[in-house]
Parts: sequence; structure tokens; C-alpha cells
Amino acid sequence: MLSVTFLGTGASIPTIDRNVSGLAVQREGETILFDCGEGSQRQMMRYGVGFSFREIFFTHYHADHLLGVTGLLRTMGLQDRTAPVLLYGPRGAQRVLGTAVNLGIERNKFPVDILEIKPGDRLARDEYDIVVFATEHRADTVGYALMEHPRLGRFNPERARELGIPEGPLWGQLHRGTAVTLPDGRTVGPSELVGSPRPGRSLVYTGDTRPHLSVIEASRNADLLIHEATFGGDELERARETGHSTAAEAARVALEAGARRLVLTHISSRYNRDASELLAEAQAVFPETSIARDGMTIDVPYAEILH
Ligand SMILES: [Zn+2]
Ligand SMILES: [Zn+2]
Repeated sequence: MLSVTFLGTGASIPTIDRNVSGLAVQREGETILFDCGEGSQRQMMRYGVGFSFREIFFTHYHADHLLGVTGLLRTMGLQDRTAPVLLYGPRGAQRVLGTAVNLGIERNKFPVDILEIKPGDRLARDEYDIVVFATEHRADTVGYALMEHPRLGRFNPERARELGIPEGPLWGQLHRGTAVTLPDGRTVGPSELVGSPRPGRSLVYTGDTRPHLSVIEASRNADLLIHEATFGGDELERARETGHSTAAEAARVALEAGARRLVLTHISSRYNRDASELLAEAQAVFPETSIARDGMTIDVPYAEILH
């Protein structure tokens, strides 16, 4: 299972309908947060995202992506959290995140580690990597791609039986890519009954950004691209001035990257209730687009490979 829950989908200021930025990724029982705007902890409670996460990845330090972390950590302390929390962010992490972590007079009851990351970093996990890429937003900013490692190729049990390979450990060895010797002395290699490795799933979160080549490169064939789209086409100048994207620009990024699906977030309060204008502008370029709303959960399925 890989899914994304939008905790906040509005730009800059919270409104009744849209909180400021926050994203919870849930993968095989693990929760990872990206950005943590003011009020994120209450959104987590509302939308059933537990506090058992270990890591928060910040795209940048504008207040609408950051202010929620202090309260969230305090609540976790009151809930007797003891396990460490890791906060990642671009240049300035120690100073900015350190201030947020230590704000107020309470002491943290559990370790909070702050790690500065930069574009090009690849944080390896058991089954996936978090890839850090450059974005363009008039500040030190990054985006993140979660890229699962390739899965084993498909194992063909009928072929295994035809070859007289007894069901059991030998099947597992072949599936993992090792040649096996059968009781009768024959050697069988995996290529005879295991397909080529299948790609894992990938999702990309841009944070605030202008359209940028590095975003396109990070989003190549992504199963899900979550791109900011603060403005509509009539505010292109304003998007340029403030380092944001229009809906159509985000759609062109998705198109050029060959992403499977695009979800727009960080929506200006002007489109708070009705973002249909943004949706139409984006879908004219990239039909597989939707607009995020608070509490929306999207599953990221495996791409079906046609044989
Ligand atoms: Zn923002
Ligand atoms: Zn920003």
C-alpha cells in the first residue's frame, strides 16, 4: 500500500476550506510527513493520520510550510513519545528548524534530530529512496521524490512445474535471481522462468516552485506528481514574481515528465471553494489531473506492465 493524504492544500494562509501545506505519505504501515504548516496536527487527527511517524521532510521555510511542527512535537511529548524524530530540510535547517523545535519553555521529551539536505541527495531506505531535487522559489528550496526499489520479476509457476522443479525453497531462490541445481543434476537459471524486474512505485512532491527542468527530471515516469499550482493563467506574471506556478505550467511539467497522474495543490485562496478554472486549464494540457482538497487520500497503484 502506498497512499498520500493531503493535510493542507491552500497557499500561504489557512481558510475554512483549505489548511496550509502538509502531506502525509503512508507506505506499508509507515507514515512520512512532508511539510507541516500551522494546524497540521489537528488535520492529522481529523483525517486519521497517526503520530507514529519518524521523519518530516521540509521543502522550505516559509511559514505556511513550517509553523505546525512546534505544536505537533509538543503534543507528541505530552503523549509520552520517546522514539526520536528526524527533521530534514534545505540550507538553514539547523537554525530555522532548531528555532521551531525549541520555541517555548517546554523541553523536548524525546530526541529531535535535524538534518540538512541538498539537491542531489539520495536517502536510502530498505525498500525505497528519498531523492532530493532542486526547485525554484526565491529561497533555499527543494522537492522530494519517493522512489521504490524495483520489485522482483514475475515468477512463472507453470513453467517451474514443467521443468520439474519441486515447489519450495528452490522456487524462492530462482525468484530472487539465483540459479539452482535440481536433484537430478540439471541446473536451471532464473531467466528461464522469472521475468525482468518490475519498477516500484514513485511519487514526487514539489513544494513551492516555478516550473523547472530539475522537477521534470525528478518526475520522469512518476506514478504521482504532486505539483503546486497557486495561480490560474491570468496571474502568470504574479506567479513569476512570487516563484509559484500556474495550473497549466504544472500540467506541462507533468506532460514533459511523462508522469501518470498529476494532483495540484497549494491553491490560492481566490480558488478556495471553486478551483474548476484551474482544473480546466491543467486538463487542457494534461488530462490526468485533479485538484487536491484537504483530507483527500490518493492510492498510488503499481503501473501495469503490458507483456
Ligand atoms: Zn507556500
Ligand atoms: Zn513558499
